Amino acid sequence: MRRCLPLLLLLLAILTSCDSRGVFSDNRFLMGTQCSLTLYKESDTELFDGFFDLLEQIDHTISRTYEHSEIHAINQAAGVEKVAVSEETFNLIKRSLEIAELTDGAFNPLIGGITALWGIGTDDAMVPAREEISFLLPYCSLDHIVLDESEYSVFLTSPYTQLDLGGIGKGYASNVLSSFLEESGVESAIINLGGNIYCVGEKEKGDPFVIGLQNPQAAHGGYYDTVQVRSSAVVTSGGYERYTEEEGVVYHHIFDPQTGYPSTSDLASVTIISEDGTLADALSTAVFVLGSKEGSELLEALGTSAVLLTRDGETIRL
Ligand code: AMP
Ligand code: MG
Repeated sequence: MRRCLPLLLLLLAILTSCDSRGVFSDNRFLMGTQCSLTLYKESDTELFDGFFDLLEQIDHTISRTYEHSEIHAINQAAGVEKVAVSEETFNLIKRSLEIAELTDGAFNPLIGGITALWGIGTDDAMVPAREEISFLLPYCSLDHIVLDESEYSVFLTSPYTQLDLGGIGKGYASNVLSSFLEESGVESAIINLGGNIYCVGEKEKGDPFVIGLQNPQAAHGGYYDTVQVRSSAVVTSGGYERYTEEEGVVYHHIFDPQTGYPSTSDLASVTIISEDGTLADALSTAVFVLGSKEGSELLEALGTSAVLLTRDGETIRL
């Protein structure tokens, strides 16, 4: 261990980097993606440690695959018994079901059976047999979950029903983390959870943050547009983010809960801008599934800002 210490210190110094303008950033692989925190005014190691510890704690609580998570426990007990969870997890599940209603089921946190079957983003990704999809689909129905607020318990009524908060979890985490930073006195920061961004405050002296929107057809960092924000989440869903290819066909990770297949809507990318990261994340997934017409109608009714990019290359700003 003693021999490893200089190397460890060097690594730490590289990871927690500071540029000439006094911008500090650090990153870790969590929630299945590269996550970073950038601070624009102040920095201390304790703040970064507290931030990433909290992120890891959230990941270990709501991950579908981490075997000690609360969501894993609920899924393991599906069709057998209810599971009592923390108040925070209970409220997140409740919120995810409210957004499922709001989006007419386009956002569906009970899509877990379908997600696991396709395995997109894992080494076991494959195109399942049509029969397997049609067998599992009815178990994604929102009737298959029972919540009891008096004891914060969750019961999935069939063993084939599985919770998956992958479409809302990073946005939720960004909400919790932005509150943590604000309570710690941070005035200016960017949280980036694999492209799921939360801007804390503003960049400097009244200037907003300028966030680039990834062009689905370009290499990472190639933008098709930008948005300017203060104290807001900027969350993007796109079929280019995670996918598998079979016989020349691309199968991505955002499923249409009506078919059990990757959504074939007319959208290539959806970016939602909202002070509420949880809502922004769930809506980005839902609007991607709904397509430009229904998605725009929903966003207008909610008064939520967004930038939609169609497969034909048209940009719609709401
Ligand atoms: P996002 O990148 O936020 O659009 O979330 C995509 C992730 O959400 C997928 O990797 C799945 O875990 C999950 N998911 C896929 N389709 C849906 C859907 N229609 N409703 C809710 N969650 C979904
Ligand atoms: Mg989402």
